[in-house]
Formats: sequence, C-alpha cells, structure tokens
Amino acid sequence: MIPAAFTYHRPTSVKEALGLLAQLGGECRALAGGHSLIPMMKLRLATPEHLVDLAGVSELKGVAVDGGDIVIGAMTTQHELVASELLSTHIPLLRETSLVIADPQVRYVGTLGGNVANGDPGNDMPSVMICLGASYQVASQSGKRRIAAREFYRGAYLTALEPGEIVTDIRIPMPPSGHGSAYEKLKRKIGDYATAAAAVVLSLSGGRVASCSIGLTNLAETPLWAEEAAKILTGSALDPATVKKAVAAAEAITSPASDARGPAHYRTKMAGVMLTRALARAKERARG
Ligand SMILES: Cc1cc2nc3c(=O)[nH]c(=O)nc-3n(C[C@H](O)[C@H](O)[C@H](O)COP(=O)(O)OP(=O)(O)OC[C@H]3O[C@@H](n4cnc5c(N)ncnc54)[C@H](O)[C@@H]3O)c2cc1C
Repeated sequence: MIPAAFTYHRPTSVKEALGLLAQLGGECRALAGGHSLIPMMKLRLATPEHLVDLAGVSELKGVAVDGGDIVIGAMTTQHELVASELLSTHIPLLRETSLVIADPQVRYVGTLGGNVANGDPGNDMPSVMICLGASYQVASQSGKRRIAAREFYRGAYLTALEPGEIVTDIRIPMPPSGHGSAYEKLKRKIGDYATAAAAVVLSLSGGRVASCSIGLTNLAETPLWAEEAAKILTGSALDPATVKKAVAAAEAITSPASDARGPAHYRTKMAGVMLTRALARAKERARG
C-alpha cells in the first residue's frame, strides 16, 4: 500500500520543529521512528499533508539523571533504552519492557516519545509510565507544560496533546533502591502486541509491601492504573489470598475488546494471570 502524497520537513532544532507545526496547522504530524505512523499512512488511516521529522533534532535524545528523576529525550529509541546502563541500574523495568516490544528492527528506530504519544492502547510503554508515575514535558510555540502520564490518555488514539504540541521528554521519578519490578506480557508470537500485560513496581519493608503500583496494557481504550489493586496489596506479605483479592480488583477495571487476540472475558482473565506473575517476580527481585 502506498501512502497519500505529503510534504516532508526535517528541522534540526525543537524551535524550528515547533515553528513548522504552528505554521502548517492541523494537516501536519510529527514523525518520530515512523513505525506506527507510516503503517497507518499506508493503510490510509492517517493522511497528513505534512510530516515534520524529528530525527534531526539531537536535543530530543538521551538519558540523564536530574535530581531524583531520570529524564529521557522523546527521540531516544527503544534500542537505546535497552542499552542504557543508567536505566538498567535505576529502572530495569524499562529495559525489560523495551525487550518485549516488537523485534530488534523496530526497536532500532521506534522511539519512546512516539510510543507514549501514539495513544494506541496496544503500546507497551504507556502503562509502564503510568505505573512509574512518569510525566511528559510537552512544548508548542506558545509554551511548555507538563502532563502526568496518568492524565494523558483520553481514549484510543486520543491524548491530552493539543495541535502544534510535541512531547520533548519523559521524566520518571526513580523508584526506591531495593525495589522490585516486572513486566509480564502475553502475546501470540514474537513481535505481537499484548493480548494482556501487567507492569508492577513494589518495595518491601520487613517482608511486607511498603509501596506498590500497577499498570495494565491493552485491556481498555487507554492504559490502566490499577490503584485499588495496589492499595489492597500494600501492607500485605503478598500472601495468596490477598493477591487473589487484588487480582480480582484489577480484572474489574478492564474492558478489553473481543478481537483476534481473544474474547474479552479471556483477555480479562489473562490480565489477572499476567498480574499474578508480575507480582511474584517483582517480589522475588525486591530487597527488604
Ligand atoms: C511489526 C511491529 C510490531 C510492533 N509491536 C509493538 C509492540 O509489541 N508494542 C509496542 O508498544 N509497539 C509496537 N510497535 C510500535 C512501535 O513500538 C512504534 O515504534 C511506536 O509505537 C511508535 O514510535 P515511533 O517512534 O515509531 O513513532 P511514529 O510512528 O513516528 O509516531 C507515532 C505517533 O506519535 C506521534 N509522535 C511521535 N513522536 C512524537 C512526539 N515526540 N511528540 C508528539 N507526538 C509524537 C506521531 O505524530 C504519530 O501520531 C510495533 C511496530 C511494528 C511495525
């Protein structure tokens, strides 16, 4: 399939990119790795008249520590997340999640910014960002604002981004040292989107859960933050009865579509299975 005709722009700074987006208006889209947008264009599900390619904007790349946070430039690729020693040390959940996104070819080009800004419920990073309490720095020609990942997703392909805005970086508070985390994803084959997936970050104190956060992928039109389930687990020793109660609370907030990945009921049950596994692995990895 061949996309509709478009004009290609390649700015070299954020200022230039924002100027182009403001000037070209609603028929214009930012292009990052292109691994979600180009397939949509080929299917004629997206028909932008202008593409503003962010690949030449070096200031949108990189992973850095800023106080107690990790800040990741929007154009950092999924492969760069896998390779980052800083992330492996402080937020291993990001490496683990990146490794189950697509295949190496996609990960070499696909970016974190594109993954979180896309708004596809099947993308893996949004629920992980929700789980981690991340926020997105957003910029347009009229200024900057920061949006919590937990408030960013409004519906399938619908986010809090306004026309002319781009995500410039992703800020993640470092989880406590000694925390345990896990991302469990059920997929039909290598390179597939999730049938159901669960992200967990928890810390233990004296063998009991001191803090816990849970995100769920592809189980509703938006990524889900399973706040009630995490509350049930906090203070517990992750005993089977409490885990079962928390899993039921997490399943209750899902509303997946029945599709080629299975009927809705099956996908909800798989969310519970993924969450049970992620909790067990996060506990195994936590110290305290
Ligand atoms: C075969 C295949 C399998 C895949 N499997 C998975 C998977 O299992 N899990 C998964 O999560 N993803 C998967 N993907 C998608 C892949 O991870 C994409 O790379 C990612 O979703 C989008 O990142 P991108 O950099 O390619 O963005 P693009 O495709 O360039 O852009 C996606 C959307 O985000 C917008 N955008 C991009 N960057 C910004 C920005 N900085 N600010 C504002 N808007 C922006 C674009 O305008 C567009 O609307 C798969 C892709 C392929 C081709």
